[in-house]
This record gives sequence, C-alpha cells and structure tokens, in this order.
Amino acid sequence: MTDCTAIISGGGPSALTAAILLAQGGVKTTLIAPAITDDLRTTALMQPAIRLLEFIGVWPGEIIAHCAPLKRLHVLDDTGNLVAAPKIEFMASELGFEEFGFNTPLALLIPALHRRAEMLGVNFLHSKSVHAVAHDENIAVETEAGTNITGKVLLIADGAASPLRKALGFHLNCTRFEQMALATSFDHSASHEFTSTEFHKAAGPFTTVPLPGNRSSLVWMARPSRIEALLALSEKDLCTEIQLEGHGLLGRISNLGPRKAFQMQSSSATVFAKSRAMLVGEAAHALPPIGAQGLNLSLRDAATAADLIIAADDPGSASIATEYDKQRRADVAPRVALTGLLNASLLSELSSFHLARAAGLAAVAHIAPLRQLALRQGLGTVSELPVAMRG
Ligand SMILES: Cc1cc2nc3c(=O)[nH]c(=O)nc-3n(C[C@H](O)[C@H](O)[C@H](O)COP(=O)(O)OP(=O)(O)OC[C@H]3O[C@@H](n4cnc5c(N)ncnc54)[C@H](O)[C@@H]3O)c2cc1C
Repeated sequence: MTDCTAIISGGGPSALTAAILLAQGGVKTTLIAPAITDDLRTTALMQPAIRLLEFIGVWPGEIIAHCAPLKRLHVLDDTGNLVAAPKIEFMASELGFEEFGFNTPLALLIPALHRRAEMLGVNFLHSKSVHAVAHDENIAVETEAGTNITGKVLLIADGAASPLRKALGFHLNCTRFEQMALATSFDHSASHEFTSTEFHKAAGPFTTVPLPGNRSSLVWMARPSRIEALLALSEKDLCTEIQLEGHGLLGRISNLGPRKAFQMQSSSATVFAKSRAMLVGEAAHALPPIGAQGLNLSLRDAATAADLIIAADDPGSASIATEYDKQRRADVAPRVALTGLLNASLLSELSSFHLARAAGLAAVAHIAPLRQLALRQGLGTVSELPVAMRG
C-alpha cells in the first residue's frame, strides 16, 4: 500500500506544473514544499511553455495583463574584443509567430499554479523533504515535520540544493563561474518595441527583456566584485549605470524594482532518473541565464515526466526511468553545453575563443538553415514535444 502514486518535492514552477499535469491526468499526487516565498524574477516563457500553461488552465487568466510579448531578439557584441560578432536580429515572424513567447513575472505565475493545483485536489504537505529511501515496490520520503509518505514514484523538483538528490545518490557535473547575475526591473523613457536585447560583454551578458508599458526586466551578469558594487549603489546611481551599460537604447532609466543577485553555474545530472525518482528543473540542471533556457527546459522536464507517469502501470519502474533519462538527456545536455561554452567564451582572455564565438554567431546570422535551427533550438521545438506543449 502507498499513500499516493506520485510524490513531488518542491514548490517552484516546475514542481507545481508537474503536480497540475499529474492531477489532470488522474494521478493521486502529494506535493511537499515550504510556504511560497516571493520570487522577484521574471522569466521569458517561449511558445511551447505558454501552450503548456494554457493546457493546465493558468493562461491567459489574470497573468497575461502583467506579461509582455517578445517579438524581436537582438544579440549585440559589446565585448570590445578585436574580433567582434555581427549584430543578430531574430524576429518571431520568421517562424510565422506573432511573438516568441511572453516575459512573465514569477511572483504571479507561482501563486496561480499553486491555486490551480489546490483546485485539482493535489495534497499539499507544507514542510521540507529531508530524506528519501527507494524500495522495490515504492519510495518513501521523510519531511522536516516528521511525516513519512510513500508513493510509486518521486519527482525531485526542490531546486539546485536538493537534499533528496543527494539522499538517493544522484550526481551532478557542475562548473561554477566567477560571475554573478543581478536581476531587477526599471522604467525607461523610450519604447522597447517588444524587443529583448542581449549585449555580450567581456564579463557576461547584459540582457533587457520587455515588460508591459515602458518597463523592462534586466539580468546583468558580471564579476562578483562588480555585482556587489552595483548592489550597494543608490537607486539614482544604479539607474545611471544601467543607462550607460545599455548604451542609452531605452532612454532615461528610473523607478528600479527590487534587486537580487544570483551565483552563476552550469550543472547537469549524470543520470536523470533511477531508484523510482526523476530529477526535474533546477534539481536536474542549472544554466547561466543566456537565451532564456532555464525554466523552459524545466517545464519540459515536468511535462515529459507527467506523460510517462500517466501512461505507466508502474511509474517508478526501471523502464520508465530509462525512458525519462534518455529523453531529458537529449534535450538538456546540448543546452547546458552550449550556454556554458558561450558564457566561458565571453569570460576567457584567449583570442582563439573570441574568434570561435564571433565566427559561430556570424554563421547563425547569415546562414539561413543555421538561423532557422538556432531559432527553433531557442524555442525548444526541435525534438518532439510533450503532449501538453503541442497545442
Ligand atoms: C537571474 C535569472 C534569470 C532567469 N531568467 C530566465 C528566463 O528568462 N527564462 C527561463 O526559462 N529561465 C530563466 N531562469 C531560470 C529559472 O528561473 C529557473 O530555471 C526556474 O526558476 C527553476 O524552477 P524550479 O521550480 O526548478 O526551481 P526553483 O524555482 O529553485 O524552486 C525550488 C523549490 O523547491 C523548494 N524547496 C527547496 N528545498 C526544499 C526541500 N527540501 N523540500 C521541499 N521543497 C524544497 C523551494 O522552496 C522552491 O519552491 C533565470 C534564472 C536566473 C537566476
């Protein structure tokens, strides 16, 4: 006897999305997570992720009014290196879309997912998972509050520092960059024209992403000492720094939102599923925020896990684990490698690295099939998508 079919550890967007998909598919699901805390980031969710949110009944809802469509993506070489990459401009219309996706505030998305999961009867345990043990027939999870719960399968979606990943003997390949990211938002006097601009600089990308009205979110990657100095600036001085760093493209900067810094790393699990457990989201992989890949990838983890669990007699069986591992590895590995390499090429002082990056980006800019491939890779539509993302 088990308490439920699926146990999910984690209360972030990937855990909640998996819980909703499973509940919609008739799978008895328990989710273990501490109370929601505000996540001040916004994430650029691409078309397949938006279709998934539609499928689970949280899009457009009340969220869309607070999101901005992404119609154009610009990549500008601002490294000051001897060999500069050409400017790249991608239009959503090249793929026949009105927009690539929407920039979405997590502070609104997470509570909306939470409400939907509750409405569908997901059982919430408000605690932290501390330990898990896999048995032949089931898997048992222990919470900080001392509750033990058993299920047929466990989704480990409790973030980059996941204790359950460790308890079940999963390993990560991890590269820590000498780099942090500052996330914030601001008003600007010029229109963003629904364009996200990624300036490639010598210490990492500086990326603005449109929000409704004349407002954008910012992810500014730089050396830790620079990010710490930026965090300590007054609002007025930080506005000036942002205006200078963005070459004034968005006009005068004002009205900064809250700021938060994140350590940058690139990591990927060596195995994505085993012992009746599947790794989902940041528990499985972390990428520097280049090309808005992280949460889009995490939602594909959640939707793939749900497809396999809903269709299985024993969702914790070795064959399901093998299939999940195969599908997720094919999607995750190239993205972790590519974003890690691109980031490392910016940080490197080797001119051969700069040359290779400039040549790669020039090929993407000018060779039509490569350009199409890059666009479809960016959207995550190259391989077959999970059911909920097909539309
Ligand atoms: C600056 C920045 C900008 C980004 N921008 C984008 C973007 O534009 N597009 C994009 O696709 N991605 C983006 N990402 C990546 C994206 O934010 C992450 O991929 C996403 O938040 C991961 O979601 P998650 O649910 O897997 O993990 P998390 O959001 O880390 O959630 C983990 C959850 O687990 C809970 N938890 C922790 N410990 C336990 C425990 N022991 N037991 C139970 N629960 C636990 C936590 O409370 C939390 O709710 C960005 C990342 C950064 C740092």
